[in-house]
Amino acid sequence: MERWQKSLAASITSLEELVGQFQIDPGPLKPVIDRYPMRITPYYLSLIREIGDPIWRQSVPDTRELEDDSLPSDPLNEVESSPTPRLIHRYPDRVVLLVSSTCATFCRFCMRKSWLRNPEGFKTDDSIDAALEYIERTPAIRDVILSGGDPLLFSDELLENILRKIRKISHVEIVRIGTRAPVTLPDRITHRLCRMLKLYHPLYVNTHFNHPLEMTPQCARACTRLIDSGIPVGNQTVLLKDINDDPAVMKQLMQMLLTIRVRPYYLHHMDLVQGTRHFRTSVEQGLKIMAAMRGFTSGLAIPYYVIDLPEGKGKVPILPENVKIDGQRLYLRNHLGEIIEYPDVAGE
Ligand SMILES: *Cc1c(COP(=O)(O)O)cnc(C)c1O
Ligand code: SF4
Repeated sequence: MERWQKSLAASITSLEELVGQFQIDPGPLKPVIDRYPMRITPYYLSLIREIGDPIWRQSVPDTRELEDDSLPSDPLNEVESSPTPRLIHRYPDRVVLLVSSTCATFCRFCMRKSWLRNPEGFKTDDSIDAALEYIERTPAIRDVILSGGDPLLFSDELLENILRKIRKISHVEIVRIGTRAPVTLPDRITHRLCRMLKLYHPLYVNTHFNHPLEMTPQCARACTRLIDSGIPVGNQTVLLKDINDDPAVMKQLMQMLLTIRVRPYYLHHMDLVQGTRHFRTSVEQGLKIMAAMRGFTSGLAIPYYVIDLPEGKGKVPILPENVKIDGQRLYLRNHLGEIIEYPDVAGE
């Protein structure tokens, strides 16, 4: 076993392990993890400074996940945009391939939190092959995004198998990998992995930092290894209540990313996913954060603030010209020019 695999195997998944380290009452959390499992790598756990801090809130279950928020579990209709299982084809020239259904640390706010609890559903390799066949017979696809779950939880060999097959398809120009491993399992970014990945250029990585407390020397080293292998690394942050919904925290995070050569790409407004209401902020607060950055720091530090519209209507950059607020109602214009009302529900 490689070091990162040992580290992953040592992740905490039970409340007993959590109670061993923190003074909390596990009783109320039992039903939460029965529904949405917990997994926290020893490394990510070690970043927690106190109960309720930004690392804790992202990774430790909360009873509010079970409150009835009448939100759907698949608000983006990903199932319907799937020509084959595991593949989401919503935009003409690019697809998302959900290669893995598990992550090193389960984020409590994850938009696929219902899907991740069922790793069994997406186990066989046949469905990856079926997705690759679809990509092969669809010449419009020039960009393949490997996501999940976390593709880097695969062994180097399994991952290379997939990359090799994708690279045999001549119309696929670029490959992107979405991974939170640099943040929650930085050991995963080995020299060996990087040597393998660089054989499949042009390859891009998008990672997922949400808070300055996640910016450690280990993470910086992981990102540097990828970047030094010629892989541009971008970052997607999720706007999270009481974690990073503050202009000063967000600006600091974006600036810190640039110091490790990671380029801020998207700031995602929280999706309308069941069990995540307590993480939601208003679009108004998001716009305030963007306004506090634009002009006040490097343009390179500024991500696109985006919202993924319900029912697969697409990602919309939240710019003043795409947003119309009419009393209590919020309307957004998507890439097709459609005006869609958005239920802007923030948590209490
Ligand atoms: C976000 C997303 C993409 C990629 O979008 P980019 O703006 O190109 O980064 C592709 N497909 C789906 C379904 C997505 O949600
Ligand atoms: S790393 Fe991404 S896919 Fe995995 S649990 Fe976190 S948000 Fe979800």
